Amino acid sequence: MYAPAGVKTDKDYPIPDRMKAWVLGDPGELSLTDKPVPVPKKAEVLVRIDAVAICATDLEIIYHGPPASILGGMPHNKNFTPGHEYMGTVVALGPGVDEYRIGQRVTVEIHAGCGQCKRCREGMYTSCHNYGLNYGDVDKGHRANGFTTDGGFCEYQVNNINTLVAIPDAMSDEEATLVVTAGTAMYGLTELGGLVAGESVVVTGPGPIGLLGVAVAKALGAHPVILTGTRDNRLEIGRALGADHVVNVRREDAVEAVRRLNGGKGVDYVLECSGAPTAVNDAVRMVNRGGKVCLAAFPHEETPVDVAHIVRNNIYLYGIRGEGKSATHRAEAFMSQKRFDATKIHTHTFPLEDLPTAIRYAKDRVEDAIKVVVKARGVSAAHKVAAE
Ligand SMILES: [Zn+2]
Ligand SMILES: [Zn+2]
Repeated sequence: MYAPAGVKTDKDYPIPDRMKAWVLGDPGELSLTDKPVPVPKKAEVLVRIDAVAICATDLEIIYHGPPASILGGMPHNKNFTPGHEYMGTVVALGPGVDEYRIGQRVTVEIHAGCGQCKRCREGMYTSCHNYGLNYGDVDKGHRANGFTTDGGFCEYQVNNINTLVAIPDAMSDEEATLVVTAGTAMYGLTELGGLVAGESVVVTGPGPIGLLGVAVAKALGAHPVILTGTRDNRLEIGRALGADHVVNVRREDAVEAVRRLNGGKGVDYVLECSGAPTAVNDAVRMVNRGGKVCLAAFPHEETPVDVAHIVRNNIYLYGIRGEGKSATHRAEAFMSQKRFDATKIHTHTFPLEDLPTAIRYAKDRVEDAIKVVVKARGVSAAHKVAAE
C-alpha cells in the first residue's frame, strides 16, 4: 500500500502503489500503461483525478509536440502523460501542507512557475523564465502538468498547492474541469487587458476559450459583447452565454458588422480565439483607436500584419499564455455564484479507457463536440454520455 515517508494519507481514501496512465509514443499515438502513483513533496498534494477535459492544446501536443517540452525537447516517446484540464479530490498531503485537507474537491491551474524568476515574482507564472527546467542540473522546480511534467490522463497526479482551486460540492466534476478555461479568458481580459465594466468587447472564434470569454466578459459587465464565428450552432451557445450580438462571418463582413453594431467606432477590446489567417488584421480593425487586442489562439502559419494601422491607431496587441495572476480563482468565484453556466460547452463524457475515442470526438468535432471530458470512475465503459 502507498505510504511514503512524510506524506499524510487517510484510510478513507486508500491509494494504490500503481495507477493506469496514458503515455504518448510517436505523434498521435497514445497507449494505456501503468505507472507508480507519484509522491507529493513539500508544498504539494496528491490529487485523485476525477475528471479531465480535452483541450485543443492537448491535440497540438499529442499530434505535433509544442508547446509541451519534456527534458528540454519534444514530448514524444518519453513516457510522458499529457492532459492538463483536470479536477479531483485531494487524497494525500506532502510535508507541511495544511492549506488543503484530504477529501477536499479541487480543480487545478496548469502552471506552477519556478517561484524565483522575475515573471513568477510578478504573478505571471505562466510566463516563467525557467519554463520546462525541472530536471537534472537545471532543476528550477518549474511544473506545468501536461506540458513539462506528467499531466492528467491518468488516475493520480501531484500538484503544487499554488495550482489548486477549491470548488463547492454543488459544482459537478465536468463543470470544474472548465474553471481553468474561464480563468484563461479572465486573465486576458482583466489582468493583462484591464477591462472595466461598461467597455465593449468582441470575441472572435467560438471555441471553448472564446465561448467562456463571452461569458466572462459579460459577467464582468462588458457591453456590448459581440461574438463572431462560422458555425451557427456555436454562435447560439455564445448567445446563451451572454453575447449581445452574434455575427456569422460566412454571411457578413465581420469588421463592418462589428462597427455597425457598436456605433461605427469599433470596440474597446478584441479577444481573438479563432487563429484564422485574417484574424489579426480583422481584430485591429474591429477595435477603436487606442483599443486592445488579446491573442489567445495559436495559428499554424506566419501571417502578414498591417503594422502601420496598428501604430497609427495606437492599438495594443498582446499574447496570452494560460491563466496567470490567480485569475482562475476569480473565474471559479463567478462559476460558483452561477454568473454563467459553463456546462453549456460540455458536450460528451467518456471513460478514461476510451481516451482515443474522446480525442477523436474533440479533434473531428463528432456530433458537434465542444468540450469532451474523460472520467476515471463513474462512467460505464461501454457507453459515452452525451451531455443534455
Ligand atoms: Zn487547455
Ligand atoms: Zn519562474
